[in-house]
Amino acid sequence: MCDVCKAAGINSSFINGPKSNVMNAKLYKVYSNRVANLKLCRIHDIELFLKGEQRFLTTHLSLAREIVSKANN
Ligand SMILES: [Zn+2]
Repeated sequence: MCDVCKAAGINSSFINGPKSNVMNAKLYKVYSNRVANLKLCRIHDIELFLKGEQRFLTTHLSLAREIVSKANN
């Protein structure tokens, strides 16, 4: 399942259709020394491409919070 949809509580098959695939994405500016791996549905993959990392994360603050809590574990 898409990480953004999961963090926001959205049903990703509802917005993408039941046959949609989840793709792996990488965020390069989140951590200073490593890459953050994400799973994104088609809609959020396009959104990341259009907005860029920083604006994408400010739009999806619940996702940003989840990434930070993962990094602290
Ligand atoms: Zn999604």
